[in-house]
Amino acid sequence: MVVIGAGEAGARAAMALRENGFAGRITILGDEPHSPYERPPLSKAALTDADEPQAAYILTPERLDEHGIAHLGGRAVTAIDRAAHMVDLSDGERLRYDRLLIATGARARKLAVAGATPESILYLRSFDEARALRSRLAPGARIVIIGGGFIGLELAASARARGAEVTLIELAPRLLARAVPAAIASVMAARHEAAGVRLLTGTGIERIEVEEERHVIQLSTGERIVCDGIVAGIGAVAETGLAERAGLAIDNGVAVDGRLATLDPDIFAAGDCCSFPHPLYDGRRLRLEAWRNAQDQGNAAARAMLGGSDDYDAVPWFWSDQYELTLQIAGLPDEGEETISRDLGDGARLDFHLAGKGRLVAASAIGPNGKIARDVRLAEMLIARRAHPDRAALADPDVKLKALLAG
Ligand code: FAD
Ligand code: NAP
Repeated sequence: MVVIGAGEAGARAAMALRENGFAGRITILGDEPHSPYERPPLSKAALTDADEPQAAYILTPERLDEHGIAHLGGRAVTAIDRAAHMVDLSDGERLRYDRLLIATGARARKLAVAGATPESILYLRSFDEARALRSRLAPGARIVIIGGGFIGLELAASARARGAEVTLIELAPRLLARAVPAAIASVMAARHEAAGVRLLTGTGIERIEVEEERHVIQLSTGERIVCDGIVAGIGAVAETGLAERAGLAIDNGVAVDGRLATLDPDIFAAGDCCSFPHPLYDGRRLRLEAWRNAQDQGNAAARAMLGGSDDYDAVPWFWSDQYELTLQIAGLPDEGEETISRDLGDGARLDFHLAGKGRLVAASAIGPNGKIARDVRLAEMLIARRAHPDRAALADPDVKLKALLAG
């Protein structure tokens, strides 16, 4: 069993192969030098903790040893030879596989703007990039963040916690336009402004100039911003190059079927790099960039690699922590046609998104984690059951979601 990519999906799949009783050889191939580690802390604790950050390992070298999983780090896979069932590594080695998992994740999209060079813009995807970024977040440092998505906003909160001055520039008219309903995003926007972040939405960048240690950003509005560092969080691009060169189908990611198999029955894909049909949403093809999806698909891919035939049908779910607020979304809000809000108290809110005929297809919430997590979990179970809950009951905080689930 060979896994390409030592990230969340790859590490989980390797462990799940063992947990499901596979006793043969398992090898994880990763281009990063580290043992598999968690990415979510990179925009949060790794930037704000007083101590220099350590990678939060998913699998330490000791655990890898204990489970007899080989991890070859610091080496990229450069080609998949499907006919020979071999992969080529960047150091010239070749490795045979019986079953192969592509778990290559995604990479940060690079900013294409006049004057931007690889040296002038920082990105955040890896532990090494988080360390480099952390060293720039000194108190009083003027940081400009380009992109009002998850990276940009989590980073803005962390940079403020470190005492940096933050300006965030977003091209779209509002923050988090892709994945988060407007009502929830506006609560987060207000929290950032209260924390002193200068939010410039609907604003483009004309060019960037580097003058010794300073950077100057020329905005579409005519304003010039002088700063000490620029970070871009403008989306992620699925790592599909290997699969594409091997002749596998690509459709906004490595295209897999319901059991995460590619068109080659011995090759599977999981996590940020793949797109799959979701049974809950009429087989709509999704590519999810979220931690729990990478874990769940790692587990599911391992079962499929061992001959399992179950379709992957977990309800999409993700969270984002910014300041004392947590945002959580279960399901796909863009499948909804109607929104019903429930006030959870202490400023927390939970919105239910209903499709035509009243089916619950998503729930989005914002507030302190302790206030929202349980209800989002219950909403997720209702979504999985394709429930059609009563509208008045959804809006009434005195009606327990558990009761709706029982009904
Ligand atoms: P990755 O974790 O990207 O792992 C893929 C690995 O494959 C990488 O190490 C890559 O270098 C390697 N690789 C690629 N190509 C090759 C090759 N040819 N040869 C060898 N190795 C290769 N999600 C949430 O739900 N909540 C959060 O709060 C959250 N916070 C995040 C914070 C940050 C800073 C980032 C970057 C992501 C965050 N995410 C969060 C998203 C979540 O971490 C990802 O969805 C998840 O890591 C995806 O796992 P993966 O295994 O598919 O890909
Ligand atoms: P993202 O959430 O997709 O957000 C990117 C944002 O940048 C979008 O709002 C996008 O707007 C905007 N943008 C695109 N091009 C721009 C430009 N030229 N100038 C200004 N703004 C621009 O991606 P991300 O924040 O970069 O995160 C990268 C990856 O890390 C994603 O996979 C993300 O899911 C993951 N991550 C997740 C979490 C979490 O779930 N809590 C936290 C951190 C990171 P448009 O939508 O209009 O293009």
